[in-house]
Amino acid sequence: MKINRRMFLGTAIAAYGSLSSPMVSASGHGKPRVVVVGGGAGGATAARYIAKDSEGAVDVTLIEPTRTYYTCFFSNLYLGDFKKIDELGHSYGTLAANGVNVVHDWAIGVDRNAKTVRLASGASLPYDKLILSPGIDFVEGSVEGWTLASQNAMPHAYKGGSQTELLKAQLMAMPQGGVFSMVAPPNPYRCPPGPYERISMVAHYLKKHNPTAKIIVADPKEKFSKMGLFQEGWGDNYSGMIDWIGADFGGGNVTVDPDAMTLDIDGERINVDVCNVIPAMKAGHIAEAAGVTDGNWAPVNAADMSTKADEDVYVLGDASQQGDMPKSGFSANSQAKVCANAVRGALTGSRVFPARFANTCWSLISTDNGVKVGATYEATAEKIARVDGFISKTGESAQLRKATYEESEGWYTGITVDMFG
Ligand SMILES: Cc1cc2nc3c(=O)[nH]c(=O)nc-3n(C[C@H](O)[C@H](O)[C@H](O)COP(=O)(O)OP(=O)(O)OC[C@H]3O[C@@H](n4cnc5c(N)ncnc54)[C@H](O)[C@@H]3O)c2cc1C
Repeated sequence: MKINRRMFLGTAIAAYGSLSSPMVSASGHGKPRVVVVGGGAGGATAARYIAKDSEGAVDVTLIEPTRTYYTCFFSNLYLGDFKKIDELGHSYGTLAANGVNVVHDWAIGVDRNAKTVRLASGASLPYDKLILSPGIDFVEGSVEGWTLASQNAMPHAYKGGSQTELLKAQLMAMPQGGVFSMVAPPNPYRCPPGPYERISMVAHYLKKHNPTAKIIVADPKEKFSKMGLFQEGWGDNYSGMIDWIGADFGGGNVTVDPDAMTLDIDGERINVDVCNVIPAMKAGHIAEAAGVTDGNWAPVNAADMSTKADEDVYVLGDASQQGDMPKSGFSANSQAKVCANAVRGALTGSRVFPARFANTCWSLISTDNGVKVGATYEATAEKIARVDGFISKTGESAQLRKATYEESEGWYTGITVDMFG
């Protein structure tokens, strides 16, 4: 089924209805206040839905340092020359015009007793409900030789914007016959097919501009998302170009030297022209600062995405530890709508609908060659639990692959409108 913008929004509206019950003052000081930290797939969606559906009954403030959010989703297509960087950038103007108080700043601390969020500017914002959707940060020392200070020499490009542009510039500057390398991340990490779609898009670029170049992937995993589909696609389209070294062959035993531009895989040193290091991940730092993580991720209740540590603090998207959903933009958006509905219900007495979640991850392998994996989920007492799912098959017709790619284009338009209005 092709998802177009109208269907996407229509489904969301049908699922959440309209405000029907009178406002219940939770705070005792005027309108109830929601502070959302992080204006990405989870945070922007939650802010937008609470503001829209509460029809002014709830004060919604969104804290986000950047003025333009560059999506990680479709950033690989920018590497492959299928998208321009400007097509990935989205501003917060429409959210601001529709009742969300957008504050461009960093949240640097949370006082859960006083129920306030401290900003880098020095301001302190009170909340009745706090929603954190800060995405990911990296685990220090997870790739030997790499620190955040190395990200210019060896970019991760796993946060959107300047890092993605840097990786593209390095790809374009590669000498003929050069080596593009990737250090793939261990589980769990954002966007399970992301590194492998990236390899496909880099190969697509190199095949056209630098056909004798090589790609080496050092991977600490033995298997990865949509592995059969990617390997089929790499064989069909980029034969002889990609060398994937999994855990069985020492792919997890890696050291990098950003000054010398070398990569050691299981004791064998190679000179590389580009090294895309994607380290191990954990929840964005503010979740840890709020004291709602287990050290890496924030355990949440599936029914409303409230944290196990504090029922008035919610964590969405990549930063949460919720169960079976992959860390994706689609998941974060889906979780945000469940959370928005629950938060609005708690603050205004409006009807709360049972939590239902969905995800699809599309990947582009070559021109018009799209594949997908997806599932639906429900909330159980323990976790967000998978109900059923689907995945593209190897050997599919070119026509079906093209339709799958077009479906992903419709999804991108739909989700970005759903996030930013
Ligand atoms: C290469 C790549 C490809 C991908 N492709 C897909 C795809 O095709 N489909 C898909 O569904 N997903 C995809 N993803 C995954 C998707 O980007 C993430 O899962 C999604 O963005 C998670 O949403 P989030 O709200 O948790 O975090 P984000 O969208 O990263 O948003 C976090 C926001 O919080 C802000 N922030 C962080 N800390 C603070 C703070 N202290 N104060 C204030 N603001 C803060 C950040 O600036 C950021 O804007 C891809 C990811 C990558 C890297």
